[in-house]
Amino acid sequence: MKIFRSIQILVCHLFLTTALFGQQQSDTQPTPPSSDTAALAAMKKEAIAGVESRAKLAQVMVDTIFSYAELGFQEKRSSAYLTGILEKNGFKVERGIAGIPTAFMATWGEGKPVIALGSDLDCIPQASQKPGVAYRDPLVVGAPGHGEGHNSGIPLNILAALAVKDIMQKNHMKGTIKIWPGIAEELIGAKAYYVRAGYFKDVDAVLFAHVANNLGVSFGGFGSLGAVSMRFDFVGESSHAAVAPWRGKSALSAAELMDVGWSFKRQFLRPVQRSHNVLVNAGDQPNVVPSTASNWYYFREADYPHIRELVDLGSTMAKGASIMSGTTYSSTILGSAWPGWFNKPIAEAEYQNIKMVGLPTWSDADQALAKGIQHELKVPEVGLETSINSLRAAATEESFTGGPSDDIGDVSWNLPTVTLRYPANIPNLPGHNWANSIAMATPIAHKGVVAGAKAQAMTLLDLLNKPELLASAWDYFNRVQLKNQKYVPFIRPEDKPHTELNKAIMDKYEPQLEKFYYDADKYPSYLEQLGIKYPTLRPQTSTNGQPPTETDAESIELENTIKSSSAVAGGGGF
Ligand SMILES: [Zn+2]
Repeated sequence: MKIFRSIQILVCHLFLTTALFGQQQSDTQPTPPSSDTAALAAMKKEAIAGVESRAKLAQVMVDTIFSYAELGFQEKRSSAYLTGILEKNGFKVERGIAGIPTAFMATWGEGKPVIALGSDLDCIPQASQKPGVAYRDPLVVGAPGHGEGHNSGIPLNILAALAVKDIMQKNHMKGTIKIWPGIAEELIGAKAYYVRAGYFKDVDAVLFAHVANNLGVSFGGFGSLGAVSMRFDFVGESSHAAVAPWRGKSALSAAELMDVGWSFKRQFLRPVQRSHNVLVNAGDQPNVVPSTASNWYYFREADYPHIRELVDLGSTMAKGASIMSGTTYSSTILGSAWPGWFNKPIAEAEYQNIKMVGLPTWSDADQALAKGIQHELKVPEVGLETSINSLRAAATEESFTGGPSDDIGDVSWNLPTVTLRYPANIPNLPGHNWANSIAMATPIAHKGVVAGAKAQAMTLLDLLNKPELLASAWDYFNRVQLKNQKYVPFIRPEDKPHTELNKAIMDKYEPQLEKFYYDADKYPSYLEQLGIKYPTLRPQTSTNGQPPTETDAESIELENTIKSSSAVAGGGGF
């Protein structure tokens, strides 16, 4: 494989000296697009038609996965359902890859180039929500829901792949398409393990897709933070909390002391960092001094050395807390993500396709739902996006103010990768929240997926038909991206995917969610199965009708700056 890449790069250096010199002068500015041959332009037209002809399949897949509402590492039904569809369409599926039962790698075609399409699949705790309803109304109270929109990305990739597969068969084209899921993305739990297991070794480029409010793509680094997810487990000694408290050593005190230490330190950390925690075990009942407690932290920073520093600082806080409380502690890495760095030549190609596709035509009902929830949340009532943004570098080291993460970052440091953002959600929503579920099984998501699939299919065709595009992608990857930083995994050789996470929550809610699984044979849409009028708005007599305050508007503006600079998610992300 390495030999192939070297030859490919060498060959293309010979052919493309001029183009690459041009690119060397501006690694942060977009280069002018090259035009497609007549044959490629015709194929792209066919791909658009192929995607459009599968709009029904998109709706069924999006609605079905929405209804399964499965948390990270527990995507059993979603994974079985999608692999079934892929097998029916001629893909060979390897299940349970990298030691993760719900992960898979689906492959169709033969020979070079090998292009892998990826997107996330898991949902968000406590985000259960009726789709199409513009106020809080859970399907199952307390249950998980697709409050990030990860029910839409793999359907998008399947649509793109099937449309391109038809064209490849018709034209006897060589090349291999792979489709894979971002399992447990909200836990940054899987992709570093795919990389470690070698699943991207023979792949030439990755086209990733992530739900957003608009159709777009970015390149470069400093659009997303890297992160390490780490649990600190404290062990003390229990005792009767009233009769002999002095015999106890509280593990809960240790966990709380760690938080106090971290909170004091926070003021002296770089503004770009994000760190947050939950106590996943804080004891059982007050009259028993807690002998065990667990504090789960996410440490996020902009680059590899700073992430390492933050993790070491976390361990120092835990050590200090254990000394103060007379307890002991151990730590476990539950997940990790490199900050994303996205490929300029492929992003430029994808952006040309995005411009050709344009945004979906939103109906009055789509806009009414969007404005309804924006009104409900007292944020600017701008409705849905109606124009695409320009192509740009994500940010610079100096201008980056922090944002979300996605373990696609690990992939992006191993081979040329881009993230397509597609418009399946509503602007100005909080993210990781029930409100972000509202659009995700409605015509907004269905249309956004179809639009995104067109751009994805066209870019796939670019990569299959233009060896010079792959060559300049690898040139950018090796020469620009890897110039000062090489990939070093955060996971250690002894680390394993934590596939036990979320099991207890899914065991609790699955029986209640089952009643709401989408039956596509019986109902033309999930909205119809649920009997939801689209859109359902809160009656105007509501007390929630206050216009946004100035502070609201300012904080939304800051949030949008962060979101629009995020190459990972453009609004979403772990
Ligand atoms: Zn996400």
